[in-house]
Amino acid sequence: MIGDQNKIPTLSIVVPCFNEALNINALYQRLCEVLQQNELDFELVLINDASTDGTLDVIKNLAETDRRVRYASFSRNFGHEAASSCGFDLARGKAVVLMDADLQDPPEVIPAMVSRWRQGYQVVYGRRMNRQGEGTRKKVSSFLFYRLLNRFSETDIPADVGDFRLIDRIVVEHFKGLPEKNRFVRGMFSWLGFRQTAIEFERPARLSGHSKYSWARLFILAFAAFTSFSLAPLRLCIFLGLTVTVLSFTASLV
Ligand code: UDP
Ligand code: MG
Repeated sequence: MIGDQNKIPTLSIVVPCFNEALNINALYQRLCEVLQQNELDFELVLINDASTDGTLDVIKNLAETDRRVRYASFSRNFGHEAASSCGFDLARGKAVVLMDADLQDPPEVIPAMVSRWRQGYQVVYGRRMNRQGEGTRKKVSSFLFYRLLNRFSETDIPADVGDFRLIDRIVVEHFKGLPEKNRFVRGMFSWLGFRQTAIEFERPARLSGHSKYSWARLFILAFAAFTSFSLAPLRLCIFLGLTVTVLSFTASLV
């Protein structure tokens, strides 16, 4: 962990980065503008998830010029959920904002999140009104995923909500205490409870590069979500096991 170790900021902005070399400086500029205009002091915690495109050099340059920038770098690609969790471990702010590096989560939404936080909400999550730059197939599968998950899950996980959110320190500390290895971060925050509210925003297309979520990775994430937040897969396995047992027993009698 490199960076200024002394000051406790109001906000920690946590950003997982995997091959985002062309986006990080633009994100940093926009964050500085918006947060300084709104007199919000912050630290920027960047987690390099074993990028191969020079992301680490961009991060190191930033950390050298601005002591509010701190970072960690993974030894291999562990994925977005692990990088977010590492960011929570390192963040020291009174609240943490988790966001993407590609400017799909607009920094301009953060002041509105902060004002809801100051009204007493402990988690303020962004709800996507519009998803530019995403194909119909992704929009439809995402729409179905959230509806199916909520149909079978015991936890109410809000639809059309990604990881972009502001989280109060007390909730961050509880999140850090959860033992899950296979993580579906947005579901874990829903499960934790506390006073939560939504802020609606228009989600633009990525500034540069392409989504790191292939269909295979999305499937793995969806699988983690279903197995962590619903007993339906377990019940299905038990039902199938019992059916096979009964059929085999009947067959052996015949
Ligand atoms: N990311 C990461 N590790 C990964 C994949 C993604 O740290 O293995 C980061 C990525 O750099 C971005 C965020 O997680 O900051 C969300 O990824 P992406 O923008 O590709 O997802 P999408 O917005 O398309 O769902
Ligand atoms: Mg993105």
